[in-house]
Amino acid sequence: MFDILDNIKEKKSKFNKAENNKKVYVETYGCQMNFSDTEIVLSVLSDFGYNETPDIEDSDVILLNTCSVRENAELKIKNRLAHFRHYKKNHPHRIIGILGCMAERLKNELLEKEKIVDLIVGPDEYRKLPFLIENIFETGEKAIAVKLSKVETYDDITPVRKDGVTAFISVMRGCDKFCSFCVVPFTRGRERSRKLSSIVGEAKKIFDEGVKEVTLLGQNVNSYKDNENDFSDLLKAVALAVPEMRIRYTTSHPYDLSDKLLETMAEFGNICKYIHLPVQSGSDRILKLMNREYSVKHYTGIIKKAKALMPGIGLSTDIIAGFPTELEEDYKMTLDLMQEVAFDGAYMFAYSPRENTKAYKYLDDISYEIKQRRLEEIIEHQRKISYKINKELINKEKEILIETISKKSPDYIMGRTDCNKSVIIRKAQFKIGDFVKVKINKVNSATLFAETVI
Ligand code: SAM
Ligand code: SF4
Repeated sequence: MFDILDNIKEKKSKFNKAENNKKVYVETYGCQMNFSDTEIVLSVLSDFGYNETPDIEDSDVILLNTCSVRENAELKIKNRLAHFRHYKKNHPHRIIGILGCMAERLKNELLEKEKIVDLIVGPDEYRKLPFLIENIFETGEKAIAVKLSKVETYDDITPVRKDGVTAFISVMRGCDKFCSFCVVPFTRGRERSRKLSSIVGEAKKIFDEGVKEVTLLGQNVNSYKDNENDFSDLLKAVALAVPEMRIRYTTSHPYDLSDKLLETMAEFGNICKYIHLPVQSGSDRILKLMNREYSVKHYTGIIKKAKALMPGIGLSTDIIAGFPTELEEDYKMTLDLMQEVAFDGAYMFAYSPRENTKAYKYLDDISYEIKQRRLEEIIEHQRKISYKINKELINKEKEILIETISKKSPDYIMGRTDCNKSVIIRKAQFKIGDFVKVKINKVNSATLFAETVI
């Protein structure tokens, strides 16, 4: 197997960027962090003359940036790989690479089982990609790089962003929380933060390039640390540096979310009044087994403070149905908590056992049927809560940032409120990137419809 560490500097100096005009096709799966990583990968590759192509048939290299959080996510990738056999057959020198969490989790096993795969690269090894790819083109030898790093943050790399009015800035990598169900600490390694000054610099740069809204990303942003600066300090610094840009962040962990962060959010008009705060379960017994480190009381305490400081704040969460030993009464507590908090939205999942995690050792004793039934009821419960909240917004005025043309009709456009609600309006004279004042006139559980206010 090719060992890149031997001569990385020498190879870099010899590489002729101008002579390389190979094309890369990338598909990204999973969380926003993966989408942000793909922008880093494209930047690393473009420095060596690899350009992105949207056309898989036209590509020399196919990369899949993958997710391992649930078994279904991995099955999706495996099915996609089966589909890729055809592209390899037509073009045997085309390289197929797996990046991200699945590469990190399965390592050699993936290379051995999936014969069409040439390259496996984990989330902390993306700087090596151009050399690994070049070596495969030269020697035909497969390559693997899956070492996790305690320091890699890609701080100096400028992501290749698609033109748009919204952007991500990844502020930290990894996670030290070790929730008992979650594979992320194993696939993305230890927590490490980027420098505050470099994040602020990147925010200013993308604002100058036309970005109107930025989302600061991390698996647990509340653990951000750059010397004496915590995440509230970072948020404040960004808010002050780009006062005309909307700022969001995700994801917060309820154990670490401080009063100082809520106060900072309330203080600055350009920090969006929206928190995604995964609760996972409404039962203290299950939360303990999940190693989430907080109680339901602690969680609802944060919500009360947030609502008091920022009336009308948008709230969303993640919920897992059917965690090991979950009784009907635990599950009902989750439904009750959803009702009490009145989340605007939720991402809801059936528990999926993941190798290496602590919960993998527990008996997965909730049957598929019960998990699915609870999940469907949770989804329906959330749909009703969202609809009720949205109905109360009828006749209210909101400001939205126009993000895209509506998927259903080119005559309509979609924008988002500060509280993260999607709003559809007639296109009229508006363009993507405009801030528009609207009055809500119709709603369903997922979307608001509005007319513009003159
Ligand atoms: N760090 C973020 C957090 O704490 O919310 C995101 C982690 S994970 C990518 C997003 C969500 O996936 C989690 O909040 C959890 O609800 C869900 N999840 C993670 N592992 C899971 C598993 N083994 N089975 C089902 N859902 C899972
Ligand atoms: Fe996974 Fe928990 Fe870390 Fe989120 S905080 S990435 S759920 S271990």
